[in-house]
Amino acid sequence: MKTIKAYKYAAITFVTLMASANIATAQIRVVATTPDLASIAREIGGNKVSVLALAKPTEDPHFVDAKPSHIVTLNRADVLIEGGAELELGWLPPLLESARNSKIAQGARGRVVASAGIRMLDVPTSFDRSKGDIHSLGNPHFLVDPDNAKIVAKNIADHFAAVDPKNAAAYRANLAAFTNNVDLKTIQWVRALAPFKGAKVVTYHKDFVYFARQFGLSIIDELEPKPGIAPSPAHLARVIGAMKTQGGKVLLVQPYQNRRTAETVARQTGAKVLMMPQQPGAVSGADTYTQMMDNLVNTLAAGLR
Ligand SMILES: [Zn+2]
Repeated sequence: MKTIKAYKYAAITFVTLMASANIATAQIRVVATTPDLASIAREIGGNKVSVLALAKPTEDPHFVDAKPSHIVTLNRADVLIEGGAELELGWLPPLLESARNSKIAQGARGRVVASAGIRMLDVPTSFDRSKGDIHSLGNPHFLVDPDNAKIVAKNIADHFAAVDPKNAAAYRANLAAFTNNVDLKTIQWVRALAPFKGAKVVTYHKDFVYFARQFGLSIIDELEPKPGIAPSPAHLARVIGAMKTQGGKVLLVQPYQNRRTAETVARQTGAKVLMMPQQPGAVSGADTYTQMMDNLVNTLAAGLR
């Protein structure tokens, strides 16, 4: 009798312990619009969070293919991290409308706008959407500057701590580690690109302005006449002329941009096309933010050598 009682007690204790362990390890559900934001969120959240990205690493963050599964993911999210500055204007608002999740509504603790606190470049003084420019609030491709990645990491840590206060200390510690690591890596990246200071580059989209400022590159022009507008023959002729007179050596493209157009320009100017994906996961071995940056720096240094 005594042993049965003891067994029962042990079983109940075990179940209770398991239940409380479950609560202790319940992760907050984080959704990021793009893989770069997701990568930083994983580093800040550690094992306290589960993170999903809506966009694929090889997808244009301005034009993500919206799927019904994205609505389900957003409906269940505790936190949403968006790039902001209208990066996701073309696809995120209708998904959010359908997801009906107040936890990630505009202004909620669970809504992180990565661009908050970033000093934006290319902010237009006047803006005409009918001309097709999609950088209406300034240039949203700011994460390829490591100084901006640190600001974004802090935004994420602040929101994680607000949504999940009992783990605030862990988020702060992870933020400190991330910041430290990025600082150390930045010294390496600056050193690796120092021999190429002032190098003339051309990009397909206006997506390397923050990178160029940080690492001292000089951007001659973009193949797109305006962000989001496909290259026209007249504009390409102007770019080719400028590359010839100024000595543009490399042309930077992303996986989702028209490589054939870039190759055509490269052939006429003697420049090299460099695949420079800004999203972790786009190439093997570059799955985190710092690995992605390593890949950009190494690819560019090799291309300019
Ligand atoms: Zn853009």
